[in-house]
Amino acid sequence: MKCSEFLKELTDYLDDRIDAPTKAELEEHLQWCHNCYVVCNTTKMTIEIYRDSHLYELPDDLRTRLRSAIVSKCKGPKDSASSEQPPDSATDKR
Ligand SMILES: [Zn+2]
Repeated sequence: MKCSEFLKELTDYLDDRIDAPTKAELEEHLQWCHNCYVVCNTTKMTIEIYRDSHLYELPDDLRTRLRSAIVSKCKGPKDSASSEQPPDSATDKR
């Protein structure tokens, strides 16, 4: 089985919607293909988180705070409130 075939069957495998021989082939692929093993694990975890988030609805307040925390983290390391000026304006003054 090739990686592309594995990935094609992966969602069905995680949903347990495949027949036994195909399942055995997928599991055999996981034995030697680390790449697909990682993809399989990551997908499985994502599905579990997704299912959990349906069971426990996040309160809107927490969701907003989580999002802003993620956004501020993505903006980079300079998170101090004192450095409000962009670095470009500093070069203008010289
Ligand atoms: Zn593979």
